[in-house]
Order: sequence, then structure tokens, then C-alpha cells
Amino acid sequence: MSEYVKNLMADVKAKNPSQPEFHQAVEEVVESLSVVMDRHPEYRAAKVLERIIEPERVIMFRVPWVDEQGDVQVNRGFRIEMNSAIGPYKGGLRFHPSVNLGILKFLAFEQVFKNSLTTLPMGGGKGGSDFDPKGKSDLEVMRFTQSFMSELFRHIGANTDVPAGDIGVGGREIGFMFGQYKKLRNEFTGILTGKGLNWGGSLIRPEATGYGSVYFAAEMLATRNDSLEGKTCLVSGSGNVAQYTIEKILDLGGVAVTVSDSAGYIFDEEGINREKLAYIMELKNIKRGRISEYAEKYPNAVYTPSDASADHNELWNHKANCAFPSATQNEINSVDAQNLLNNGVIVVSEGANMPTTIDGVNLFIDAGILYGPGKAANAGGVAVSGLEMAQNSMRYGWTREEVDNRLKMIMKDIHTTCITTAERFGAKGNYVLGANIGGFIKVADSMLDQGVV
Ligand code: NDP
Repeated sequence: MSEYVKNLMADVKAKNPSQPEFHQAVEEVVESLSVVMDRHPEYRAAKVLERIIEPERVIMFRVPWVDEQGDVQVNRGFRIEMNSAIGPYKGGLRFHPSVNLGILKFLAFEQVFKNSLTTLPMGGGKGGSDFDPKGKSDLEVMRFTQSFMSELFRHIGANTDVPAGDIGVGGREIGFMFGQYKKLRNEFTGILTGKGLNWGGSLIRPEATGYGSVYFAAEMLATRNDSLEGKTCLVSGSGNVAQYTIEKILDLGGVAVTVSDSAGYIFDEEGINREKLAYIMELKNIKRGRISEYAEKYPNAVYTPSDASADHNELWNHKANCAFPSATQNEINSVDAQNLLNNGVIVVSEGANMPTTIDGVNLFIDAGILYGPGKAANAGGVAVSGLEMAQNSMRYGWTREEVDNRLKMIMKDIHTTCITTAERFGAKGNYVLGANIGGFIKVADSMLDQGVV
């Protein structure tokens, strides 16, 4: 670690205590950037890094609502407007009890680089609440989201800040929030993405993150004249990203054998075929049930409950070729990373944001496997959100095929940026360095152009 990075990290930790995920995300990026800072003293002189790690604005607010029993509940809402150098703030909203300022700042920070990599004009932001949609009725979710939007509406706008979904925020929540925004502003504009098809949504947006992560894996494999055909894949999560990751793995001839939620995971040695995937979609999106029910429906599959006291997750300890972490941050630690390598995994494509700890990442890089970090591999979601914004501006919608082709092209371009940037900075095949530097330069140059703001 260079002296410059060391001092910067000491400052980040002192100024942002109790935000370990934010420290982790910053450390990973600034370590990659030290070579850029050496080659470009103008970035250092203009304190670009010191500015980029400080959100342009943090909004934190009270979200009161009334539950089914008539009791008043109070949650906390946030929006981090991280960087608007290349476009309006853009990034999802997460509703999960673990949400706090540090987690949202890490996500907003990652988003800045990810959005830049997509080639579309989008700045970075993230938001959400510690509200837990699990076990809540539709009415409770509506009351909560309406209260949430009653404050958020004054901070967002089609040219200011355009949120989307993330963990716990899907079509239902986006719908309620859009309705409330429209009522408050008396305005039908594209202030959210992930909207329903009948009211300004884009085809392929629900599929985009999962599809994009598999397209990215296919691009990585192609550099070794290989493909997903016949590959055994470990997938975590069973939400939006995991579901469409499995669908695209099937399209490209691979076999997904695992799926999970926060309570445990399923190992289905026979593979998750289209019928089983349809069952998972119904279970998770409509019945809002638990993944353990999969093993009741398909008795040949094995369900293993999560064990918080274990030093690793058994999901990552099966023979496989590829891994698609698609649940949450830090779900692969160094023991899991080593297990993956020992089990023959040669591709890791991150659908989730920062699912691998820094030690785990270093093991993948040292082993020379094809490791696609989240900010590159899962950028397909926000890329199609950008395409949704473009369609809203035109008041016109593209076909499924048109959007999917654009998504494929964007993932290919991101892959090329990672590869060529890594090579230019002397780290051939290192997608982490390629993604971090590739995403940074466009934002940094724009910040230089726009003066000290
Ligand atoms: P969903 O809410 O649809 O699904 C999340 C899945 O991950 C669920 O299966 C959930 O299980 C599981 N999960 C959530 N938190 C934990 C936890 N702490 N421990 C174990 N499992 C957990 O979210 P998405 O699929 O949209 O998001 C998944 C990941 O992908 C996140 O990291 C998100 O930031 C990232 N991402 C999402 C994008 C999108 O377009 N949606 C875009 C880019 C990245 P349970 O139901 O039990 O909570």
C-alpha cells in the first residue's frame, strides 16, 4: 500500500467511523488507483480522490407509518447523492433491516464507477431504508412506501436523481412509490426506473442484471476460447438477480445447481431446469415464501439451513466451474474463495454488489481465474435503467430484442474496457484494476472540467 493510499484510508476511517463496508469499498478502489495517481499528478493536485469519496449530499429522514394492528412504526430513510459529474444521480433503493448509512455509502460509491463503465450519462447514488418488507402485507408495504416517497420526492427528479430497485425493492414497491410521486407532484415523469411496462417501464429491465452478469461471464470465458456450454454453476440468492442469472445460464447451455435465501440454500445436483425456475419465481415473487420449500417440492434436492457460527458457507463448497454470487455483500470470505478454487471454479461473475471480501478477491486474482467484480459484471441492471430513461425521454419504447441487443453490446464494451485498461496499466487479466480505473478516469476528467464544486 503506497503512502498516499495509507494516508487516505486513515482519513476515511477517522471521518467515517463504524462504516466497515464503506472502508472496504474505498480501499479496494484506491489501491487500484495508486498507479493512476502516479501517472496523473493533475488528479492529485485537484484532490479528485478526496472529493470522490465524499458524498455530494446525504439525505436522512423519518419514515412513520401505521401497521395492520393500528400501531405506529418508525423507520429511517436515506438517499446518498454521491457524484453527479457525468449525469444525474442514479442507483437503487434497498429495503432491508441491515440498511445503515455505511452500507448505502459503499453502494453509492461503487455505483459511481459502475455507471461510468456503462458508457451512459449517469452519476452515482443509492438509498433505502431499514424497513423489512418480509412478512408485511401489501397494504403495509404501500403505506410504508408512500410515507417514504412523501419525503424523497422533494430530492429526486428526471434530471436530478433517478432511483431504482435493489434488495427488497421490486416492481410492487416501485409502483407504489411512482404513484405517490405522481400524486404529490402532479407530474408523469421518469423519476424511477424498473417501472411497470404499462406505465413507462422498459422490456428486459427485470432481467437485465442477471442476464448481464451471465453475458459478462461468457465474455470472460471467450478470452480463453471457452463458453458456458455444459458448465456447472453455483448461484446464491433467489431474488431478482439470481432468477434471471439462472435463466440466462440455461439459455447458454450451463447448469445451475444451487440457489439460496438468507435462511439457507438448496443443492440440486440434477440442475435447476426451466420448470423448477418457474417454481422459484412463483415462490419468491408471488407467494413470497422461503427457499426451503423447494426441497419439499423436489425431494431429490438437499436443503441446508444457514449457520451463522460457521467460518464458511457450504453453498460455495461444491464441485463446479462457475460461481455467480447474487445475494448480498461479503457472502464469499477467504475460506469460501479457497473452497471455490479447490472445487475447480474458474469463473466468478458477481451479480451482487461487493459479495467477496478483499482477502477473497486477492485469492481469485492470485489464482489467475476469470474474476468479474460486481461493478463491471452487474452493471447490466443500471445500464438498462439508463435505456429506460432514454425511452422515457423519447416517449417511445424499444422491443425486447432491441433492448437485449443493447444490453449485450454494453456488457461487451464494459468487458473490453476492463481488459484494455488493465493491460494499459500493466496488470493483464486483472478485471478489478480494469474496472476501477476504467470507471474512474471518465468521472475524474469530468470533475476536472467542471472545476472545484
Ligand atoms: P432481491 O431482494 O430480489 O433478492 C435478494 C436475495 O438475496 C434474496 O434471496 C435474499 O434472501 C438474499 N439475501 C439478501 N440479504 C441477505 C443476507 N444478508 N444474507 C443472505 N442472503 C441475503 O434483491 P436483488 O436480487 O435485486 O439483489 C441481489 C444483489 O444484487 C444485491 O447485492 C444487489 O445490490 C445486487 N444488484 C441488484 C441489481 C438489480 O437490478 N436488482 C443491480 C445490481 C446489483 P431473503 O429473501 O431471505 O432476504
